[in-house]
Amino acid sequence: LPSSGKLAGRFPLYAHPSPSSDQEVAQVLKKLQFGTAFGDFMSAATYTEDEGWHRQGTIPYGPLSLDPAAAVLHYSQEIFEGLKAYRHADNSIWAFRPNYNAARFQASARRLVMPEMPTELFVASLIDVVRADTRWVPDLKGSALYLRPFMFASEGFLGVRPAVEYTYLCITSPVGPYFKSGFQPVSIWVTKQYHRAMPGGTGAAKTGGNYAAGLIAQQDAKERGFQQVCFLDSVQGEFLEELGGMNVFAVSKDGSVRTPRLTGTILEGGTRLSIIQLLRDQGREVIETDISINQLVSDIKSGEVVEMFVCGTAAVVTPIGHLAGENFDVTLDNSALTEQVYDHLTGIQYGTIEDTHNWMYRL
Ligand code: PMP
Repeated sequence: LPSSGKLAGRFPLYAHPSPSSDQEVAQVLKKLQFGTAFGDFMSAATYTEDEGWHRQGTIPYGPLSLDPAAAVLHYSQEIFEGLKAYRHADNSIWAFRPNYNAARFQASARRLVMPEMPTELFVASLIDVVRADTRWVPDLKGSALYLRPFMFASEGFLGVRPAVEYTYLCITSPVGPYFKSGFQPVSIWVTKQYHRAMPGGTGAAKTGGNYAAGLIAQQDAKERGFQQVCFLDSVQGEFLEELGGMNVFAVSKDGSVRTPRLTGTILEGGTRLSIIQLLRDQGREVIETDISINQLVSDIKSGEVVEMFVCGTAAVVTPIGHLAGENFDVTLDNSALTEQVYDHLTGIQYGTIEDTHNWMYRL
């Protein structure tokens, strides 16, 4: 990627009539939650077949005016991304592997028959909105400015076919830890009743429909007293896939680590990919494979599997303390490797550990 200086300015700033005051920003940053506060700006662009990407700008965050027939509202032709901007001790601001998110956004676009946004334009949209919203980038470790790029079919048309007009936006949201409990083990219900994705479906794309389809499973898990739901494959109902918004890992007592292989029904997380790399850098064996839930439960009971964790941009790296399903209920009380992975990854992200892979990109 070219340096941000070279990419900046493609989404020119349109003056905000009334940006938040410094006191308002400070007030919000003092008690951060996840996904409840938003910056003052958003980057925006329009795509049509005739004009390609155009009407790019950084505009005030605010309500949209949308044709009620906009295809996204009826047929869910929509994709999104999620990544964070981190403030380092010297006040510089960095994104973690934004080119990875750009590539995944393009892959999601292909699956949903939407136009691909070139990597440089995607990254430029992040640079410009973060520069407009720098005041909203928190400086506490564990906090960051979450960036949510998304694209939807904005053409007003009723009929099932790919739209001819798309709107792209990137909004920002200052966030604290995803789990209110912080770096505390989470409890997970493994559902047999609901599936998130199927072969040939959209599981590997980051599209709203996947999340809408998973809500009922998440609600069911909550009602049972669990924080998150884990999905199994929809063909045999036996193999671990992922959570609604996180990938999953299991650590064996011999130190090797396993995570579900990418079957086309799982979203490949940038965090997953990076953790696999960091563990392999240490010489650790990491196996991407089918993980049978029955085998996993007996391995936890026998002590063969000693630790599990989930990971994602929002969840970062979080230990699993309790895993249950219709016919099993097991606990895990070890988080030694999870903590090590958390420290290493967040050290890179917050600029306190050397970034040997050049994952950080200065915005
Ligand atoms: N799986 C799903 C379904 C997700 O929504 C996410 C969050 N994007 C992840 C996994 C983790 O991906 P990442 O590490 O890139 O945030």
